Amino acid sequence: MQADLNPATSLIPIGISSCLLGERVRYDGGHKSHSYVMHTLGEHFDFKPFCPEVAIGLGVPRKPIRLWRNAKNETRCVSVDNSNLDFTDRLQDCSDDQLSWLSNLCGYIVKKDSPTCGMERVKVWDDIMPKREGVGVYAKRLIEKFPYLPIEEEGRLGDSILRENFIQRVFAIHRWHLFKAAGLSVSGLIDFHASHKLILMSHDQSSYGKLGQLVAGTTKENLRKNSEIYLLNFMSALKKRATRGNQVNVLQHIHGYLKNSLHADDKEELLQTIENYRIGHVPLIVPITLLNHYFRKYPNTYIAKSWYMKPYPLELCLQNRI
Ligand code: SF4
Repeated sequence: MQADLNPATSLIPIGISSCLLGERVRYDGGHKSHSYVMHTLGEHFDFKPFCPEVAIGLGVPRKPIRLWRNAKNETRCVSVDNSNLDFTDRLQDCSDDQLSWLSNLCGYIVKKDSPTCGMERVKVWDDIMPKREGVGVYAKRLIEKFPYLPIEEEGRLGDSILRENFIQRVFAIHRWHLFKAAGLSVSGLIDFHASHKLILMSHDQSSYGKLGQLVAGTTKENLRKNSEIYLLNFMSALKKRATRGNQVNVLQHIHGYLKNSLHADDKEELLQTIENYRIGHVPLIVPITLLNHYFRKYPNTYIAKSWYMKPYPLELCLQNRI
């Protein structure tokens, strides 16, 4: 399988548990097709479906497997009716064999609750009671190998805040891949950081400053190493929830770029709209739309380069619900 990153194509490569795309690969011969993923995200993402259990040669249908806490307190992935049938090593090896195409991905959507693909709170069985404290074997390896990769479960995409956060990170890392594909450079890193300043501020104010220091200390000699550190910390900052308070600070900061252009009543209306967002009377898209309207009339080079007001396609309607 390949996940080539072609800057000329607009579809973003995303790994996905095959069953979520309607492929009949589950133990019972069924699938778990997910309408939002297939029809809405499918307009923007180039899905790379993969079923680790099928990849290691387990047929369809097959006996189900589960996570099992053994007598040595190790979590293993075993057959439900025979804990001696242990698939853990084969699933781990299978994950390791996928590194080449996985490394080009901009995100991964995994099936919740699966002992293979589940990202969190997967049931771990023992002789007494199952506890929701496990991570699927394949997903665990994925997280270890690609700590910066946005990974989300299909079940959590129903939450508007988690959904926006995941898609925000997917588009951010896509821009990072495009930046790298164009040729890593110190000036490119400076531009990347500047164009993501407002997004970073909305997620984690302190990370913007720390990453700024890293960029300021970057030279041709340490560029490769610093870029790796940058990506890890950048993606970790974006994973933090963008709070309403942080968004208000950013909106007011942007408002400052219009202070010499707007009439007093327009300024007042803009500030009132930001206040309406702060108190939860309107969603984020409302002040963003008004700001975009004013910047079309009074363009600003810095704001034009910033991704804050256009982080992903408008038709995804993500800012309408946060
Ligand atoms: S959850 Fe993962 S392992 Fe299970 S059927 Fe879906 S893709 Fe295959």
